[in-house]
Amino acid sequence: MVKLRLSGPMTIDSIVDGDGIRAVVWAQGCRHACDDCHNPQTHSFTGGFEIEADELIEQIKGLRLHKGITLSGGDPFEQPLALAHVCREAKKAGLDIWAYTGYTFEELTDRDSKMHQEWASLLSEIDVLVDGRFDKDKKSLLLKFRGSSNQRIIDVRKSLEQGCAVIYEKYKDEKFE
Ligand code: SF4
Repeated sequence: MVKLRLSGPMTIDSIVDGDGIRAVVWAQGCRHACDDCHNPQTHSFTGGFEIEADELIEQIKGLRLHKGITLSGGDPFEQPLALAHVCREAKKAGLDIWAYTGYTFEELTDRDSKMHQEWASLLSEIDVLVDGRFDKDKKSLLLKFRGSSNQRIIDVRKSLEQGCAVIYEKYKDEKFE
């Protein structure tokens, strides 16, 4: 029985959390402590509520006319194995996967990290990753799908193939610094 800790019910019909109409899964738990975080209630690892992964999967399978799901939070990479399972089922239902994380792509792919295997299993299910901590000094309301310009919109498949972060082609002309 796989369980997840979420900070709230799935948001459906979002157009601000990735390409197309998306459903957003809000993971509970984050250790990045970015200044001016918009979701401080998602930081505690005992907050929110627990849900069976299969219950969330049923909700996802019931989506209609959605392009994909987006993992947000909190930090989804604090629950990598459970969310990898959810993502596999979402993909079987024809949905693509975006994910937000406070970790950088380089941290998530660091072979010396004790989380390496678990992070690798979630990364392998994700199509597009928006990475890095929120930096209030780089905040702009003009940025597409991001809070601050240091956060990158990464094509995960290409990045894993090439061994370095590759910006998602569609947004390659955006500012990333
Ligand atoms: S990674 Fe996201 S949820 Fe976590 S502190 Fe930073 S902005 Fe907040």
